[in-house]
Amino acid sequence: MVSLPGVGPKMAEKLATLGVQTVADLLLRGPRAYQDRSAQTPIATLRPGDVAVVQGTVVAVRHGKRRGRRPGSLQARVDDGTAAMSVQFFGAPSYVSKEWTVGRTVQVAGRTEGKPPLSLSHPETEFVNAETPAPRGGVVSLYGTPEGVGQKAYRGWVRAALTTEEATRAGLLPPELLAELSLPGRAEALRVLHRPPPGTDLQALGGGRHVVHEALLLDDLFVLMVALLWRREQQAVEGASTDALPRPRMGGARARATVRARAIAALPFTLTGAQERVLTEIDADLSVRGRPMQRMVQGDVGAGKTVLGLLAAAPVLERGGQVAILAPTELLARQWLHEARRLYVPLGFSVGWLAGDQSASERSAALADVASGRDSLIVGTHALVQDAVSFARLGLAVVDEQQRFGVFQRARLLSKGPQPHLLALSATPIPRSLARTLFGDLDISLLDETPPRGPRTTLILPSARRRLAWDLVAAAVDRGERAFVVCPRIDGPAGDVLRSAVATAEELANGPLAGVRLGLIHGAMPSSAKEAALRAFRDGELSVLVGTTVLEVGLDVPEATVMVVENAERFGLSQLHQLRGRVGRGLAPGHCVLLTPAPDDAQRLAILASSEDGFAVAEADLAQRGPGDLVGAKQAGRPAFALAATPRMHDLLDAARRAARRTLNNPRFTTGTEFAELREAAAAQLEASRAIEAG
Ligand code: ADP
Ligand code: MG
Repeated sequence: MVSLPGVGPKMAEKLATLGVQTVADLLLRGPRAYQDRSAQTPIATLRPGDVAVVQGTVVAVRHGKRRGRRPGSLQARVDDGTAAMSVQFFGAPSYVSKEWTVGRTVQVAGRTEGKPPLSLSHPETEFVNAETPAPRGGVVSLYGTPEGVGQKAYRGWVRAALTTEEATRAGLLPPELLAELSLPGRAEALRVLHRPPPGTDLQALGGGRHVVHEALLLDDLFVLMVALLWRREQQAVEGASTDALPRPRMGGARARATVRARAIAALPFTLTGAQERVLTEIDADLSVRGRPMQRMVQGDVGAGKTVLGLLAAAPVLERGGQVAILAPTELLARQWLHEARRLYVPLGFSVGWLAGDQSASERSAALADVASGRDSLIVGTHALVQDAVSFARLGLAVVDEQQRFGVFQRARLLSKGPQPHLLALSATPIPRSLARTLFGDLDISLLDETPPRGPRTTLILPSARRRLAWDLVAAAVDRGERAFVVCPRIDGPAGDVLRSAVATAEELANGPLAGVRLGLIHGAMPSSAKEAALRAFRDGELSVLVGTTVLEVGLDVPEATVMVVENAERFGLSQLHQLRGRVGRGLAPGHCVLLTPAPDDAQRLAILASSEDGFAVAEADLAQRGPGDLVGAKQAGRPAFALAATPRMHDLLDAARRAARRTLNNPRFTTGTEFAELREAAAAQLEASRAIEAG
């Protein structure tokens, strides 16, 4: 919890809802906008949606009635000589109301609303009087604040945070690296981020493209890299948990087909060349004694990572080891369970299930089967990583869609002793430079070939033409195919620009898709209901599934051929690529329709229409939005990742990796006092990651 003057326990809780748990988090959370108060805009030139500062005379004030104990509203008109505009406060406390009197000069700042005549709601307000002829001036930072917290209060906290040791300490980056990249030090970067001095390029600062963002990101990347590489060195010392398992006897293996060969023979398709190659890489890791595999498979959506994960298990199973499969959501875990059972039960292996949906008795039975070694494969969600789970002979952990567990939250399924082999499967292709940095402790395999399937087209359409999308859906349903509709939020008024799943489902059922069996799925539903909707969709009882991004994760329904995304501008490119990966998985052609109200956004999305290559999409995403979205870093508590979206990203990643390598190669790293602070920071990273893993 944040401890700062003025931040009580209640406020700290509110801050925590924004992901701000520490002073460092607060410091690394940049303003959402900057306002140059010295540059005032004439009211006559304002356009709707402008963020502007206006100075004028209060020419009219109207106080709304108080309702019981709730304060009344306040409406005022401000005239600056070029035009007048209205300013309103809903539920203005009396100290605000009292200030507004006709004739005073006021400076208001905010985002203009409505069509002309424009208005401002709850603007930042400053009255100007004879003693302060020029208002404060300069640049003001505007933050996304927790509910009920004003800008002034939040800014006060940031100001206090800026005086703490956390803000003023030197960064951990080697100074020569900063010089090489012409970057400011950490303390200066934080100051500029929050309180930009006159002359700062506010355009760059507001867009996350200023050198200060680069400096802060690099600082974080560097510590992360040092921690990861350090951990990797330590792991090599601990040994692999399969070291003690019996080696298969050559004669035995020759006499009967290996588990792997029998599993492959049971597949309804032949492996792609890339799948074969990656399997070879995995097998090589598994056969090394003394060092557990630490490998991540990077592959595009639909490249066939599931079967790869399952086949990787074969040699471990053959030697009597256990294999744990960890998936981020219950839906996805169920899919794995299904596939694992289909492949391995006929081969005589028992597959167990551990997830949050189990009753206490089911859970203890499952735990017993894991502990006794009766189950050879165990599929589950986070429940698998909990303390109570003890494995008889865990040899391999397969972690699906691993970035959803956070950058740092690798499966640490055993707390002591030799580590199981780890195979991480990434859902979203991550640009190579980023992957090499973030997953510096992992070897990376590229699954760069997609199994043959039908063509897929992606269409970007103005929202107003969504009728076309519904026609595509209806046609697909007529052919016996299925469709997804994704909205950015669960609930909200019908007709709102920001579409909601609930309203859209209703609208479709009563209009364009009347008579079609239509289901709803979103994160606020109990998991049993989500589960039921998904099963109904998979089994064809539902033809259309309307939902939120819970649909994003690796659902595999070959009959789904159309994906419609409302407010596509709300999503990152990679996320959209992931979403469209849900359709066109069978041999029938797939269609993805991205609806967006603004032409500017359509341009940003254009790469999706022109490229099917997930890695190319990810590169564009990295440049547009920075690494935060790509790797789910926000949830994982890496606020610096959410800061920067810089064209120099590759240079930074490269620099962080090189510098971390050099540092670790320095013989003084483990003992030298000059490295003490860095060692501590890196160790804290590893500790923090363990805390997440345990929780
Ligand atoms: P992802 O890599 O996104 O996790 P999946 O593992 O879900 O992809 O695979 C997508 C689909 O492709 C599945 O239906 C799977 O059965 C199929 N598939 C996987 N490998 C092959 C292959 N070599 N040939 C044909 N289809 C395959
Ligand atoms: Mg998958």
